[in-house]
Amino acid sequence: MTYDQNPLLDFSDLPRWSDITPAHVAQAIEHTLSHAQSVLAHVESLSTAQANWDSVMTSLNNATEQLGRVWGAVSHCHHVIDSPQWRDAYNTHLESVTAFWTMLGQSEPLLKHFQHFAQPEQWAILSTVRQHIITNALRDFKLTGAFLSSADKAAFSQLRAREAALQAKFSENVLDATNAYTYIAQLDELSGVPKEAVAAMHEAAKADNIDGYKITLQFPSYFPIIQYADNRALREQLYRANVTRASDFGDAALDNTAIMQELLSIRQRTAALLGFEHYSDVSLAAKMAESVPQVTGFLYDLAEKARPCALIDSAELHEFAQSQLGLDSVEAWDLTYAGEKLREQRYAFSEQEVKAYFPLHNVLHGLFHVVQALFGVQFTAKAVQVWHADVQYFELSRNGAAIGGVYLDPYARSGKNAGAWMDEVRSRSIQAQTLQTPVALMVTNFSTPLSGQAATLTHDDIITLFHEMGHALHHLLSQVDDPEVSGIRGVEWDAVELPSQFMENFCWDFATLSRMSAHAQTGESLPRNLFDKILAAKNFQSGLQMLRQVEFSLYDIILHASYSGENPDEINQVLAEIRTEIAVIQPPHFNRFQHSFSHIFAGGYSAGYFSYKWAEVLSADVFSAFESEQADGKPLLNTDLGLRYWQSILAVGGSRPAMDSFKAFMGREPNVTALLRHSGLLNTPA
Ligand SMILES: [Zn+2]
Repeated sequence: MTYDQNPLLDFSDLPRWSDITPAHVAQAIEHTLSHAQSVLAHVESLSTAQANWDSVMTSLNNATEQLGRVWGAVSHCHHVIDSPQWRDAYNTHLESVTAFWTMLGQSEPLLKHFQHFAQPEQWAILSTVRQHIITNALRDFKLTGAFLSSADKAAFSQLRAREAALQAKFSENVLDATNAYTYIAQLDELSGVPKEAVAAMHEAAKADNIDGYKITLQFPSYFPIIQYADNRALREQLYRANVTRASDFGDAALDNTAIMQELLSIRQRTAALLGFEHYSDVSLAAKMAESVPQVTGFLYDLAEKARPCALIDSAELHEFAQSQLGLDSVEAWDLTYAGEKLREQRYAFSEQEVKAYFPLHNVLHGLFHVVQALFGVQFTAKAVQVWHADVQYFELSRNGAAIGGVYLDPYARSGKNAGAWMDEVRSRSIQAQTLQTPVALMVTNFSTPLSGQAATLTHDDIITLFHEMGHALHHLLSQVDDPEVSGIRGVEWDAVELPSQFMENFCWDFATLSRMSAHAQTGESLPRNLFDKILAAKNFQSGLQMLRQVEFSLYDIILHASYSGENPDEINQVLAEIRTEIAVIQPPHFNRFQHSFSHIFAGGYSAGYFSYKWAEVLSADVFSAFESEQADGKPLLNTDLGLRYWQSILAVGGSRPAMDSFKAFMGREPNVTALLRHSGLLNTPA
């Protein structure tokens, strides 16, 4: 096969999805990878006098863009139309492709070029966007230890390797402790548990050749018990087993205590090597939030403002549990159960009832209407090659001219990963004075329609679709010419969810929802009273939920800022102190939630868990600008404001600090009021 015949190497327009097969992968990867490697080698060999933006940055971008597009297509196919052949093609090349990106990120000659660009004379001729790119690159080099002496570099790599091994062990212990527990129940113990969950427990027992109903700590088995089982002793047993997993109250062989202590010491030593006071500052170096006091101040503020509602939530729950459920004391294992009973009593409606009102076709049109009204751009369906018959493509245009496009792969199927995400197919860039328009893809896992029926979406599905469209618009509406910081590239991690969560807000607007509803049988639009129930249920116990998230976030950022290793009980004491300060409901002494807090001990959220709330504050705040103009009589789908949002936030992508973009739109720093109001936490009765 010649290069011309390989569809993966055809970069002339959209990917030729239906022509691409796993058999094309090896040649395409080898070709683009060796090209990228030789360009990198050439760039590294340039003298300081030869190094300028074009010879370094533009050359590298062009070479890596093709590799990125080929690899993007391969990993996409592996994730959405997997087969043994696709998996094989992906796994065969994963290591060499990853190794190339790592080499690029650690190249010392490249670092020297960047340092040269940062010299005053060179710096002065760069645009502010390019200065920002260099600042980011030097920061990333610093965080990967590129500035260390060779002895310190070796120590740094050893610490990172040990950290990775400990993180893996932490996860393994959580997994093993989760799997170690089973309880075989009899049917009479399962009163209250939904039929499907009971049937699944029966199936699980049968698979082990056991009579009865197998209950495990896997979420789909554990949660229906905690939420629905009338049997209080069973709930208590499951609760205890769950909150003592991988801790000093469980199997000693699976206890994560020593691992957590060593992980925290290692992170503190890593931080010291890199010249930071503590690990939280390492994490914040690449985030929008600037300092630990700023983050803790933000979190304590949320806690204080959520507290009055949390106290009411708690009092109502206790009152309900006593009067309606006959519970004298409400224990930790009663909270979810009693909460569910109270929720059912207050907001009786079913997800299925809501779903019938929202055919996918109508929801998409409603979403496109919102986008058009806000930004003056149109989505139009267009027939192009796709990777699966369910996939649709929509061209994005403005005043009749195409400015981008987006694929939507809506339904769950085998061979497709779970969850929902947005990814880039190609980025906006200008090459030889020609504009390459950006293209995105959105993947969701909505339930497949029954044959002959229209696909319909739950309210959660609609939120997911709007969320992913928010990410896609960030990519598609970019006006940055430098690809390093176009769209979501280069945006701080704690700000990246602003555009996605911003779009979610429209799913709580009655006019928007009713415009895109048409009952699958009757064609009727969503009734107001059903909408009111959905809205009320949204904020059920939101005070308690807010406090719980704030508690986790504070624990993470404070522990990573203060850990000294001097006191063997530090990992538990820090959490206990935070709970004393802010929690409204104190968990029992044996609750060791922290020992399975994988986000911060095994995942990428260490000293970054607060980002969830941080981004929610930003998106709620931005949306409040639309609400306040609406209160002055303007439409919620406000074009003037939409265009300003586009120019201030979406168009600039990662080309400047997210705080600058936020302030450009809002004219001030973020505040938490809008999020509190959206969560029903303002104006509580005294
Ligand atoms: Zn997202």
